[in-house]
Order: sequence, then C-alpha cells, then structure tokens
Amino acid sequence: MSKKYEDMKQIRDEVSNCKKCNLYKYAKLPVVGQGSHNAKIMFVGEGPGANEDRTGIPFCGRAGDILNELLGKVGIKRDDVYIANIVKHRPPGNRDPKPEEIAACVSYLDRQIDIIKPKVLCALGRFAAYYVMEKFGFLDKIEGISKMHGKTYKARAPHGDIVIIPLYHPAVVAYNINMKDFLEKDFKILGKYK
Ligand code: URA
Repeated sequence: MSKKYEDMKQIRDEVSNCKKCNLYKYAKLPVVGQGSHNAKIMFVGEGPGANEDRTGIPFCGRAGDILNELLGKVGIKRDDVYIANIVKHRPPGNRDPKPEEIAACVSYLDRQIDIIKPKVLCALGRFAAYYVMEKFGFLDKIEGISKMHGKTYKARAPHGDIVIIPLYHPAVVAYNINMKDFLEKDFKILGKYK
C-alpha cells in the first residue's frame, strides 16, 4: 500500500466516524473524495447532494454529468483528476453548509490537498472558492464568484507552486443553461495544465 493510499484511507476512516458537526446525523454515506492520488488537477466542490449521499461518490448526479462533460470537452479524463468537497456529509435538503460545519470539516480537505499535492486547485462555486482563496492568502482578493470565476491566482503550497482557479459550480447549468458557455470557456484554461 502506498503512503498516499494509507493516508487517504486514514482520512476515510476518520470521516466515516466523524461527529465534529451534526451533518452525520442526517446523511446516509460520507463522501470523502475520488480520483487519482497523483492528480495534477484537483477539484473542490461544496458538499454531497442526494445522489452522492446514496453512493458515497462525489459529483455522480446531475452536477457530475455536467462536470464530466466539461472535462471531456477539454480532453481531461475524470480518472486523472481528484475530486473532493468542502463538507463530507450532505447538508439536509441540499441547504448551504453552515460556517461551523465548514470549520469542523475543512481539516480533512486540507489533508487531502497535502496528500494529492495538486498543481491546480479548482474551486467549484462560492463556498469552495471562498475557503480556498482564504486558505492560500487571498483574503483581500475575495469577490463574488461572478467576478472571480476563470481567474488564476498563483500561490505557494507546502509542496510547491499551486494555481487556484475559482469556477462556477456546474450545478448552475441545471438552473440556467446560458451559464454553460462561461463554464466551457473557463474549463479551457484547465487544458493547459493537464
Ligand atoms: N455538488 C457538490 O458540490 N459536490 C458534489 O459532490 C455533488 C454536487
């Protein structure tokens, strides 16, 4: 077993028993993460939805179909990236995660980033974008997602240089088909990093 695999399994075991906030009470399965442990590109979503809660797999529902399509269009295989969320248990009724739930959960994500050591960290939606921007020292550059999406922010992680890219959450396309053009344009940037 590789060290990365062991470290990720440790996180999986901890999350499975996690009671640091109340979300575990309502969720069926925790959704820890999925993908290559050697991924250059890592995605961070908000939190599991109903399909993810049922399967334990991130982005496996409608938002996942859109994410897969966007990746396919720029020639990136889903198996080659790593996908995780800010919160690992589903907020009931798909409500927004509360600040205290995010605060209780993000150490798992931080450890996942340390294990994967991505070159590019894509934050899907405002909750992920705000957390990742703050984590990497861009507190003063945080704006609405409509201003930040598709911009690249160069930062330094413990493992080396990293590029932060805030993106719209793929689920927005389900509500407004016009958003697909923005996402497709922004995903083209990722083609450079595959
Ligand atoms: N939306 C998210 O933010 N994450 C998922 O895993 C699924 C939908």
